[in-house]
Amino acid sequence: MTFTSRLKTDDETARLAAVTRYQILDTAPEVEFDDIIQLVKDVLGAPIVAISLIDSDRQWFKAITGVDATETPRAIAFCDHTIRSPDPLVVNDTTRDHRFAENPLVTEPPGLRCYLGVPLQSPDGYNVGSLCVMGQEARSFTEKDVDVLRSFAKLVVSQMELRLVSHKDALTGTLSRAGLESCLASAFERRDRKSALLMVDIDLFKRINDTFGHQAGDASLCHVARVMQDSLRKGDQIGRYGGEEFAILLHDISEHEACALANRNRENVAAGNIPEIAPERLTISVGLAPLDGPVASVEDWIKRADKALYQAKLNGRDQVVLHCDSVVA
Ligand code: GH3
Ligand code: MG
Ligand code: MG
Repeated sequence: MTFTSRLKTDDETARLAAVTRYQILDTAPEVEFDDIIQLVKDVLGAPIVAISLIDSDRQWFKAITGVDATETPRAIAFCDHTIRSPDPLVVNDTTRDHRFAENPLVTEPPGLRCYLGVPLQSPDGYNVGSLCVMGQEARSFTEKDVDVLRSFAKLVVSQMELRLVSHKDALTGTLSRAGLESCLASAFERRDRKSALLMVDIDLFKRINDTFGHQAGDASLCHVARVMQDSLRKGDQIGRYGGEEFAILLHDISEHEACALANRNRENVAAGNIPEIAPERLTISVGLAPLDGPVASVEDWIKRADKALYQAKLNGRDQVVLHCDSVVA
C-alpha cells in the first residue's frame, strides 16, 4: 500500500467522511488491532497504548490497553492535537507543557505525564486518528521510539484498509458477511435491545440464472440490493450474507416498525423493474428476529431469523415472518 497523498488538514467535513468510510466507530474489539497495541506496549515499554479515532466530538478507541476507557470528549483528547499535523506529537512531560498541564487527563486519573502520538493518515490524505503511547511518569522519547511508532501506525492503517475491503461485498457494494457479522456483534455486545435482524432471501432465483444467464443474475442481485438499501433508514446496515441472501440490521426500532419496514422493502422489491430480466419480477422472503431477552448469542440471533425465513418459504414465499412462526401480513 502506498501513502502518496499529501495531508489535508483544512477540511474537517472531508476528514470526518474519511473516518466514517472505515465503518469502524463503535465496533467490537478485533484481535488484529489488539495484537498491534500489545506489540507496541512490549516494544516501547509503554504502560498505556491506544488506537484512537477522532469523531466529530469524541475520540473513540478501537483498541486500548493500560486504562479502562472506550472514549473521551474530543475537547480533552491529546490525539486531537496529533491529527492536526503530519508529524508525531511528542510530550515528554505534560506538566511542563502549557497545552496539557491543566488537562483533566493530566490533573485527574489516569494522570498522564508523557504522550507520544503518530497520526493515522488514510491513503487519500486525512488524519483519521492516532496511534499513541502514554505513561504516568515523565519520559524522554527517542527518535527511535518515534520511528517505531510511525511504522506501527502505518500497520494500523493497512489493517483498517484490509478490514474495509473484507467488510465490503464486491458485487453489490453492501457489507460482506464478515462486515455484517461485526455489526451484529457490536449490537449484541451493547445489548442493543431495540435492534432487529432481517434475513432476506430472493425467491426462486436459480431460474433467473437458468433463464437469463449469470450476468443478468448478477445485475438482478445489484438491483435488489439497491432497492433494499433505498428502503432503509440512516444507520441501518445491509450486508450480503450468502449468494442471493441478504441480512439487514435495524437499530432503534420496535417489532411493529421492523415488520412494517420489512414489508415495505418486500413491496418495493416486488414492484421493481429490472431491465435485464424484464418482464420477469423478483420477490423476496424475509425472516425477522428482534434482539429480545431470550437471544443467547449472535449465532442464536441469526438462527432465529433464519428459522423465520425458512417458515416464510414454506408458507409460499414473498412474505415476512416474525420469529415465533406467526405470519405478518
Ligand atoms: P428459494 O426461493 O427456495 O430460495 O429458491 P432459489 O432458487 O432462490 O434457491 P436456490 O438456493 O436453489 O438457488 C439460489 C441461486 O442463487 C443459485 C445460484 O446460482 C444463485 N446465485 C448465488 N450467488 C450468485 C451470484 O453471485 N450471482 C448470480 N448470478 N447468481 C447467484
Ligand atoms: Mg438462498
Ligand atoms: Mg433464494
